[in-house]
Amino acid sequence: MKAIVYHGINDIRLDDINIPEINENEALLKVHAAAICGTDLRVITSGHRHIQENETRILGHEVAGIISKVGEKVKGLKKGMRVAVAPVSGCGVCRQCISGMQVFCGKDIVLGLSTNGGFAEYMIIPEPHIKGGNVFILPDNMSFEVAAIAEPLATVFTGLSACEVKPADVILVIGAGPVGLMHMQMAKIFGAQKVIVSEILDERREIALKFGADRVVNPLKEDLKEIIFNLSYGRGADAIIIAAASAEAQSQSLDLVAIGGHINFFGTLPKGKDKVVIESNKIHYKNIKILGTTGSTVLNYYKTLELLLSNKIDLSKFISSKFNLDQYHEAFETAKSTSSLKVIFKI
Ligand SMILES: [Zn+2]
Ligand SMILES: [Zn+2]
Repeated sequence: MKAIVYHGINDIRLDDINIPEINENEALLKVHAAAICGTDLRVITSGHRHIQENETRILGHEVAGIISKVGEKVKGLKKGMRVAVAPVSGCGVCRQCISGMQVFCGKDIVLGLSTNGGFAEYMIIPEPHIKGGNVFILPDNMSFEVAAIAEPLATVFTGLSACEVKPADVILVIGAGPVGLMHMQMAKIFGAQKVIVSEILDERREIALKFGADRVVNPLKEDLKEIIFNLSYGRGADAIIIAAASAEAQSQSLDLVAIGGHINFFGTLPKGKDKVVIESNKIHYKNIKILGTTGSTVLNYYKTLELLLSNKIDLSKFISSKFNLDQYHEAFETAKSTSSLKVIFKI
């Protein structure tokens, strides 16, 4: 089968390898759609703690397809089922796992990072994923492409839940990449009265407006603070989601948030550049809740897929281009471009 394999930093190849053999507790997925994530791009240029130096790995953790083989001891899955797979499973018994935060299990298994992922014709669904409830059976009317990008949307759902977004809240999203735009649309589903998007790139601000932002701001040319306070009747943003790799945005957010508001450092900063100056008295005097979220619980993944079925959010609009595996080079280049949203491999 064809597979996009990471052989080391900046060494990605399209390899022809055997279709993997499953054991009695695993299932084999015929992949139909797998989306490129910022994490994949970072792995290619910087490696990942889950991949040892002499190891190779098929990347891709945003994935959906059809079950093509099921191990004898697997319960609940059958050949021919259309499914999406939540990427992270854990040991199932530790404190993090039983609270639903498999992402923090010390023995976490992540598709495309600690085990081979979905940028291939076939992918093994590991036993802990099957037993952990990570395999979601798709309704007939949900496309594989949309199901694949439900994964980042689930992380967005988790991020906004942590910010306790309520009706009448004014939300500021900093960064209008695909994940920032998902925050913007999801915040409206959470009931936010207004979502303001701050973004320095013209083309992304335009997309944000098209996608329903109430106001877009170029913070290099406009006074973001003044705009936020005007639009929030003088109180500041009730929640700020920083979906950009900007240390400056992180420290500035304390001036933009309302008293008692939430700030989510959702985007990661580049390695070694995460020392940020924060005026901590502002946290104290304004009762600000600064938090971070990473990944999603399996439960939030399920909730996100259900939300998609309600048609409140049209994820297909987030797919900006589709490629086959042979075009992997072009696909990764396109995914890096600031005018791209989600780039999908149709397999
Ligand atoms: Zn991802
Ligand atoms: Zn665990």
